[in-house]
Amino acid sequence: MHMGMGGWHRSLRHGFADDLDVKPTVTKEMLLRILGYFKPHWKLMVLVFICVGASSLLGLIPPLLTRAIIDDALMNKNFRLLTLYTLGSIGVSFLISLIGVAESYLNTLVSKRIILDIRNAMYGVLQRMPLKFFSNTRTGDIISRINNDVSGVESVFQRTIVTTVQNVLVIGFTVAAIFAMDWRLSILGLCMIPTFIVPTRRVGKARWDIAKITHEKLAELNQIIQETLGVAGAVLVKIFTREDDQREKFINASKEVVQLQIKEALVGRWFFMFVRTFSAIGPALIYFYGGYLVIRGELTVGTIVAFINLLNRLFGPVTSLFNIHVEVTRSLALFERVFEYLDLQPEVLEAPDAVSIGELKGEIEFERVNFSYKPGQPVLKDVSFTVEPGQMVALVGPSGAGKTTITYLVPRLYDPDSGVVKIDGIDVKKISLKSLRQQIGIVTQDTFLFNTTIRENILFGRKDATEEEMIEACKAAQIHDFIMSLENGYDTLVGERGIKLSGGEKQRIAIARAILRDPRIIILDEATSSLDSHSEALIKAAIAPLLANRTSLVIAHRLSTVLAADKILVVEDGRIVESGTHHELLAKGGLYRRLYDEQFRPEIQNRRLQSINSENLDMPETRVRHIEPGINEPFPARLIQQIHWNANSEG
Ligand code: ADP
Repeated sequence: MHMGMGGWHRSLRHGFADDLDVKPTVTKEMLLRILGYFKPHWKLMVLVFICVGASSLLGLIPPLLTRAIIDDALMNKNFRLLTLYTLGSIGVSFLISLIGVAESYLNTLVSKRIILDIRNAMYGVLQRMPLKFFSNTRTGDIISRINNDVSGVESVFQRTIVTTVQNVLVIGFTVAAIFAMDWRLSILGLCMIPTFIVPTRRVGKARWDIAKITHEKLAELNQIIQETLGVAGAVLVKIFTREDDQREKFINASKEVVQLQIKEALVGRWFFMFVRTFSAIGPALIYFYGGYLVIRGELTVGTIVAFINLLNRLFGPVTSLFNIHVEVTRSLALFERVFEYLDLQPEVLEAPDAVSIGELKGEIEFERVNFSYKPGQPVLKDVSFTVEPGQMVALVGPSGAGKTTITYLVPRLYDPDSGVVKIDGIDVKKISLKSLRQQIGIVTQDTFLFNTTIRENILFGRKDATEEEMIEACKAAQIHDFIMSLENGYDTLVGERGIKLSGGEKQRIAIARAILRDPRIIILDEATSSLDSHSEALIKAAIAPLLANRTSLVIAHRLSTVLAADKILVVEDGRIVESGTHHELLAKGGLYRRLYDEQFRPEIQNRRLQSINSENLDMPETRVRHIEPGINEPFPARLIQQIHWNANSEG
């Protein structure tokens, strides 16, 4: 058995996270912290313990009544006593069950309330995490922690704490009762107990190891489900007809989980088998020695029967008390995982003396900015530029050059490794996050809409906006008429990730959202995907009021945009390699000229509405970036849009 287990362990561990061997480090701080969650509910907990105490004590009565039935009623052939004791026994059992109901009710209240506290706290912490965290953490892992781990904490109170107290009480009362009956038999009975203590520690360790791996695997499984059964992933799987692969991947992962769970259960089972054997030997010896005492006239028959009953009550709690070590370890592991998340530090921190800025002029300045997502892999190198208030600056360059990253540094979605990003001459790190972000609007390529009404999605920009202001913004964004043409108007549900809307419509909603917010600075990532000429015209008309009277940083993919820009920054491999107006740069004959030839020339634009293959996936800008690690959203979303447009253009 053991050899098998060991080999299995090694093979499983291979390739998993390094921290699997780490047992939860139980510190005083950790225990105090856990207790902290229970503290507000101490009154309910006291009630729970009163119930537990009462039922443990009452549990002694039925065996004692059995003794009375045998010794008093049966030996004396007294039917009245027999009836009385039997009814008494039933009555007590009923009372114990009743207390059990009350206890589990209170139990549930306490544990559910604790879960509520922790889950809410965790959501709050995660919400404040920087973007880097979300791109480096699997969503499945986050879901698993918020749901599984936090729910697991429930068992800490119900199973671990209450059961332990109950077991201790039952053992205490029962031992007292058996010694009161006969000390010689009691010593014999108690001698049986230590024999099954020895293997407990081993079982605890093995279970702990498996439990942790199971958790990791479950997160992986969740991830697969979430990715492949979500709209975007499902489209991707279908388009590439990868159903079989995906199913196989899923089957393998779920097989692994089941195997782990079976192993985890089995570890305990062997232990219980061992215990059960001993619990059978015990009574046999007691009957033998007790019977001897009865023959000698030193003990009554009823006492032996009651004694065995009581001793049987002892085995369960003792077993589980040694097993509780497993539960405790498991509980601590859960808390450890929960605390790990609760203790996450938002990387973008607000300076203690951060100032709240009023209305901005809207000047943006990058001063020798260096930035990397992963240490040692610089993405922005020595980037310096200035955008004057009200200017429109276009960022162009090959995919992966760092354009998006530049725009992320302005609202402090990330902070530079070195160098300074300034707005109106103030280092953005010295500005309070809220007041900074309030003045910056972002319209990304792949518009994200929440699965709720169009109204709520637009009001996400400014929740206190009036109906008129919202309609005004939608009119400016050329989307009002479309919304009104829908059956439920602004109350139309957009569906998961806005699948029911075309890309152009979604983007105009996003523009309306940004216009409603009325920020001083706009960051616009123009859609690379092509639109039919009508949508194109609408978007163009929507972008005009979006950019008017604001400073804007536009990742440009349209010739019209670069032509309209006050300044064009050409980004290549994390550096700004050229800057100037369209005509200046064209005359220069450098990278911009090449990009222009490849990307912006009207012939290429005219070729747009052809097919997915010949057009979008061939455009230099769309080809590579979406399969890059870390950028996991855009690709499928874009595919959906493309399908949509193709359908539109065919119709
Ligand atoms: P562009 O917008 O010009 O296409 P990006 O700013 O999106 O370029 O990306 C610049 C580089 O940074 C690319 O090499 C990309 O792979 C990398 N990158 C982007 N986002 C992340 C991320 N979250 N984690 C790690 N690397 C990233």
